[in-house]
Amino acid sequence: MVTPVDERRYRAFLAAAQLRHAWQFQRRGRSETDDPVEIEIPPGWYGLMDRLFDGVAEAVPAAERGGFRWRRLRVVHGVLEIRFDGVRDRILPIVTRTRDEAAVTCQACGQPGTRRQIAGDYRVNCDRHFIELLVDAHPRGESGARRWWQTPQPALGRRSPASLLQAGPPSELLLDQALRLAMPAAPRLNGAHRQRLQGVWPVLREAFGERLRSLRLAEFEPETGPNGTLLAMLAGEPDTAARTAAANQLARAGYSDLRLRLIGQSDLDNPVRAADPWSCMLALEASVSIPRYQPSAPFDGR
Ligand SMILES: [Zn+2]
Repeated sequence: MVTPVDERRYRAFLAAAQLRHAWQFQRRGRSETDDPVEIEIPPGWYGLMDRLFDGVAEAVPAAERGGFRWRRLRVVHGVLEIRFDGVRDRILPIVTRTRDEAAVTCQACGQPGTRRQIAGDYRVNCDRHFIELLVDAHPRGESGARRWWQTPQPALGRRSPASLLQAGPPSELLLDQALRLAMPAAPRLNGAHRQRLQGVWPVLREAFGERLRSLRLAEFEPETGPNGTLLAMLAGEPDTAARTAAANQLARAGYSDLRLRLIGQSDLDNPVRAADPWSCMLALEASVSIPRYQPSAPFDGR
């Protein structure tokens, strides 16, 4: 939510940067509306950006500044996107460092953070702001979330999440609870859904072989069109390259509506500390099993 205070801070951040380094923000054309610099930076990254602008000012001598400008500075699914024109080699190391720092800096407050998924979107957040987003994602809306937030709970030593969070950084137990409460309802599959989804088995079997242990479906809302999150449980650690390849294979087989998430079996022991806590908790709390595809079922006449 953007409050007037956030809005003021944002304007102050932009105005200060443009005042200090006007040459980095010049427009391509002459008029006010010609090709402006696109900027959409969350407050936790203002400090990083100021260091980026200062670093570029140091690295680029006055004689070379004419061709330089930022084109786009924004956050996309928890990743800092930086595009610019001109003097590439001199500033590339600074740009890379800024991106790397953003990947581990909370977008909301600037404290150390991790990039994590929340209901299909990704953000870099410290644990405290991760909890706040989970509370916002509560399936019973604001009132359900507020009740949980303010009610003392036996598992939390008879304190409320709100008071615990005021006292210090959130414990794993509190994170676990918030994550569990933010889960959507488990899907209900009819016969047609089940039959279609069984076709995913041979595709992923080919991609992962014996490592594929089970498949589950979550975040499935057939009334809004085909979609859903497909959770593949794998023996060992899943890697990003394997996910991309398998997602491409799924799309070619006609399942581009399913978001594929890979889960290593050890992730399930402690979802809060897994690489993708949201998907792990979906697997544990809010998903249904997709039965294995059996090409030679007993009733097919053979
Ligand atoms: Zn934070």
